[in-house]
This record gives sequence, structure tokens and C-alpha cells, in this order.
Amino acid sequence: MLNEAIEYLKSYDGPQINIMEVCGTHTHEIFRKGIRKILSPKIKLISGPGCPVCVTPVSFIDEARYLAEQGVTICTFGDLVRVPGSDGSLADSRAAGGKIKVCYSPMDAMEYAKEHTDEEVVFLSVGFETTTPSDVLSVKTAMDEGVSNFSLLTANKTMPNAYLVLKDSMDCYLYPGHVHAIIGTGICEELAANGVSGVVAGFTDKELVLAIAVAVKNAAKRKGYVDGVYSEDLAKENENKGFFVNCYPRVVKAEGSPKAVKLVDEFMEPSDEIWRGIGLLEKSGMKLKEKYKAYDARVKYNIPAFTAQGNKGCRCGDVLQGKILPSDCPLFGKACNPDHPVGACMVSDEGACSAFYMYN
Ligand code: SF4
Repeated sequence: MLNEAIEYLKSYDGPQINIMEVCGTHTHEIFRKGIRKILSPKIKLISGPGCPVCVTPVSFIDEARYLAEQGVTICTFGDLVRVPGSDGSLADSRAAGGKIKVCYSPMDAMEYAKEHTDEEVVFLSVGFETTTPSDVLSVKTAMDEGVSNFSLLTANKTMPNAYLVLKDSMDCYLYPGHVHAIIGTGICEELAANGVSGVVAGFTDKELVLAIAVAVKNAAKRKGYVDGVYSEDLAKENENKGFFVNCYPRVVKAEGSPKAVKLVDEFMEPSDEIWRGIGLLEKSGMKLKEKYKAYDARVKYNIPAFTAQGNKGCRCGDVLQGKILPSDCPLFGKACNPDHPVGACMVSDEGACSAFYMYN
């Protein structure tokens, strides 16, 4: 089956099919496993906005740097330390004496706060549906254990509205398996009913190749092609019909993880969020509810509003929307490289610019 799928993707000669891999881990794994190299020139993979670090706005880094300047200990995943804010990164804050601590989970940060009661500790809560439950769990545990010097600076994002905003950028989404393991596939079915196509993909070589083959086959059929033969009637019949296939059924179930969803819903509510390079998307994120404000760093420290945009030369926004390839950015590989990233997409391993630089 795998060999057949590889052969199909190599020799595909139907209409041009554009597939957006929404997830940063997919982008990275597709490059790392050399999958792009086996694809026919008529299949184009576009990297989407699913790298949490890449979509974290400049203003969020500015907020975190502000807290560091006030003497607050910032706990964060390592990738965020080098992401540029408007006037420097958290690495610069650290060089200036700020306490910036790299953690592997929000619970690590909460434990650190518990052991250092003389410090105020803030965890930078970024990520998608996959990681939000663990952010919430850290708050729940802090409450249960009476840890009051711990809070979250949230920039948690949710995918459904981003899917809607970017739906015209491609023929088919490669939906992130781990996100849909949490939220289920109801949203994918809904999108398909509204003409937006996609397949949920896993992360092994086999899962990715098979999912891409399923995506191409269905997307070609939607354009009226079956086995290379065009039918105008079929094209008309499928014109506004989306499709959805769950190619990761061993992990992704239709109902997702109701327990994780319930936990998040208990503590958080939808919020309008800024996505770096894309702008404000309504209800595209989650923030702590008013009753948990003691754990919301924005409220707790009365953080002023930061509104600065990123470096004007950086085209992360176009990259994240699939409008250009990273190599089309004039700064790519010159002023911007992994040692000196100008934009967030070059910082994280999951970022499209970083993946292009490493593997292309
Ligand atoms: Fe931004 Fe650098 Fe990517 Fe250009 S190459 S879009 S400057 S991150």
C-alpha cells in the first residue's frame, strides 16, 4: 500500500493540487523524511500557520519582556527565547539581567513557583488545542496546592477560525493529527459540508505519504479527474463539495478527547487573538475566565497594551498564509538565518523558514 502511494505521488499527472500542511511538526517531518522530493511537480505543499511560536505576535514578546523588566521570573519553552519582539528578544532581557528560565512544561513552571515562593513566576502559555489542557492543568494544580505566585501569560490559539480564513489558499488541508485528537473531527466534517477539504494526517513516513496520496486523489476527483481522465459532469457535480478523510484513525476519534475539552472549557473562554503576520482573528484563541484572574498575568500585573508590529522586511505573514515560499523572502538565508533570525518562522524548528533553510 505504501509503495503504491509513493508510486502514485511520483507519477501523478492530473490537475495541479495545492495542499497546506497546517501543522509545524508536519512541515518539519515532511522535509526531514524527504517526502517533498518524491512528489510530482503537479503537487505543491504549502506550509501553514500551525507553528505556535511562529504565530505568536510581537506584542506578546514585548509583554513578556516588560514582565522580566519588572523582576518577574519568566518560564518558557526554549524556542520563544530567541523570537524577536519590537525591540529585542527574551534572550536580550536575560542578557540585561532578567530571569528567563527554560521549562519543558507548564507544570515544571508551577513546581518552580512552588519551590521559589520569594519569586513571582509567569509561564508563557503559547500553543494550540494540543497543549492548552496542560496549561490549564498547571493553573488547577496551583489553585489546589495554594500556589499564588504563579500565573499564565496566554497566547493560546485554536485552529478552526484559521482554517476558515485560509480556506482559499489551497485545494486541501493536511489537518494536524494531535489537534484533532483533542477536538475531534466534527469541525472537519462541518468544513467539508461548506466546501473546505482536508485529511487528518499522522506523523510517521507511512502516515504522511498515505494521507498526501488520499488528499491528492480526492482533490483531483473534486476537479473532475479520476485516474487521469477528466469528466466535466463530475467536475460540475463536485464543484462546491468538500471532502474529509480521517487518515489517522488509530489516534484521532470523531469525539476527540471530551475530558481535555471539558477541562479547558472549565477554565478558559474563546478570545480574539492576534496571529503574527496575519492579524486579529476573532475567537481564534483561549484566555482564562474572569474568575481565574488571579492566574492571568495580564490582569495580575496590569500589563500595559503593546501594539508594535514586527520587522517590516520580514514576510512571515505571507509564508504562514501560503502566499510565498520562505525562499521568496528577500531576507531568507541572508539577513535572516537560524543564527540571526529576523522573524519567528526562522526561530522554531517547526517554522517553515527554518525547515526550508535546514533541508532545502
Ligand atoms: Fe521572516 Fe526570515 Fe522567514 Fe523572511 S526568511 S519571512 S525574514 S523569518
